[in-house]
Amino acid sequence: MLEQLMKLVFGDPNKKELKICQNYVTQINALEPEISRLSDARLRAKTDEFRLRLTKGETLDDLLPEAFAVVREASKRVLGLRHFDVQLIGGCILHRGNIAEMKTGEGKTLVATLPAYLNALEGKGVHVVTVNDYLARRDSEDMGQVYRFLGMSVGLIIHDLDYPDRKAAYAADITYGTNNEFGFDYLRDNMVVSLDQMVQRPLHYAIVDEVDSILIDEARTPLIISGPGEKSTELYNVMAAIVHNFKENTDYTVDEKMKTVAPTAAGIAKTEKALGVQNMYETTDGVDYSHQLMAALKAKSLMIRDRDYVVKDGEVIIVDEFTGRLMYGRRFSEGLHQAIEAKEHVKVERESQTLATITFQNYFRMYDKLSGMTGTAKTEEQEFQKIYGLSVYVVPTNKPNIRIDHPDVIYKTKKAKYRAVVRAIKELHAKGRPVLVGTTSIQQSEELSGMLQKEGIPHNVLNAKFHEKEAEIVADAGQKNAVTIATNMAGRGTDIVLGDGIAELGGLHIIGTERHESRRIDNQLRGRCARQG
Ligand code: ADP
Ligand code: MG
Repeated sequence: MLEQLMKLVFGDPNKKELKICQNYVTQINALEPEISRLSDARLRAKTDEFRLRLTKGETLDDLLPEAFAVVREASKRVLGLRHFDVQLIGGCILHRGNIAEMKTGEGKTLVATLPAYLNALEGKGVHVVTVNDYLARRDSEDMGQVYRFLGMSVGLIIHDLDYPDRKAAYAADITYGTNNEFGFDYLRDNMVVSLDQMVQRPLHYAIVDEVDSILIDEARTPLIISGPGEKSTELYNVMAAIVHNFKENTDYTVDEKMKTVAPTAAGIAKTEKALGVQNMYETTDGVDYSHQLMAALKAKSLMIRDRDYVVKDGEVIIVDEFTGRLMYGRRFSEGLHQAIEAKEHVKVERESQTLATITFQNYFRMYDKLSGMTGTAKTEEQEFQKIYGLSVYVVPTNKPNIRIDHPDVIYKTKKAKYRAVVRAIKELHAKGRPVLVGTTSIQQSEELSGMLQKEGIPHNVLNAKFHEKEAEIVADAGQKNAVTIATNMAGRGTDIVLGDGIAELGGLHIIGTERHESRRIDNQLRGRCARQG
């Protein structure tokens, strides 16, 4: 109601923004005949000309039409891709410091080249932020050709860069990297003893890809740099050994729903006997004893290997419960991580102390100008506005959407549902049509995988254990006969290209096996098919 009233009085803000950007598009298109006649050298010389004009008082807004026209022309020449008008609109929204909602497959990677180039002209750095290393590398390599053609430098921040390379990457005109790397570098910069050891420049302008994932889902995730603590870790091994043979309901109880455990009187008695103490709550180490007993019981009964965590190269690595991703470097808190290490017989790391910490939310709020793009932002519009002061504008698709959205089908039992899912996959697979099956947990993916195996249907499962190949597996999901099971979020941002003849078979077929808590995540899954019309 209120929204409708506001629209009546003030006009639809989305329409208003599109109109402003459409006006630019008209100017950009009008410049095309002239710009396209320039030689490669003359086109490249435009970059220095723009820089000069900035020093003489012109603004980025003044330069926008020409600069966008130059980027489009460069892209045509080096990538063979000519920005669609709707991509120019997206670029305009990003330049104006807001969020462009553009559906999956609309070419947001290419959209980012426009505001990245324009804003880099100021020489203060532009960060293009992606959700994983694969995308940072892919996008910096592909789009880097356009920037370099225009005489701009491009940096890529990846995990194992050493100090000089890292600093050089930040000194580039445009820098690609993941939110993790940008955030950690900020923290490390805050701990150095002299200014010349810092790698980042002041945070100027960021374009955040898959912005809902980074600024909403991961907003409160803290980045932590920690140092070793003082305490001995031996007690964790002792406790793990003590609870190893404990029986549920006899020695301890579990509340699955509340995710809590508690020792019974019998369990406490056994623990005291093993520790050789009369009353463990009355000893000087009492707090440690009870705390570590709880941690050991939790590790034993609630934390399941290959679901909640994996053990890899002698390390316990957390599995994100929603995405199935491996959370390298993150640790469960309150001794739980150590308790799991003890349970798995790997080296128990000392409880660490936090040296520096920041959330993604606070990190990204420090940029002078922030912008973002994603296929799914509108549902989170209020939060973007409230926390970051970012407006969400919906950009129309380049071609009309031809996706067929079927209504939900509801089954009485899980078993009946899975039977139907398997039947559907079987039918589609028989025709060679690729199927992508979305699940809401790793456990579900594995159950389904087991059923397909019984039916003899070859398939790929995307979960924590295959994380490194995640992007490649998703990229192949559009090939003939491909059956891919993935958690709803896995492989975000990866381009699913259809194989030969797949469009004629009806395109990629997506089956969501369950509604996610968030409608936005369901929309992500839908968006993986019928891209670019
Ligand atoms: P998104 O991030 O919006 O999901 P991508 O950036 O991954 O989309 O691009 C999807 C596909 O569209 C890629 O294969 C890309 O090469 C192609 N594409 C993007 N822009 C254009 C364009 N202007 N003309 C032709 N193809 C394009
Ligand atoms: Mg993308």
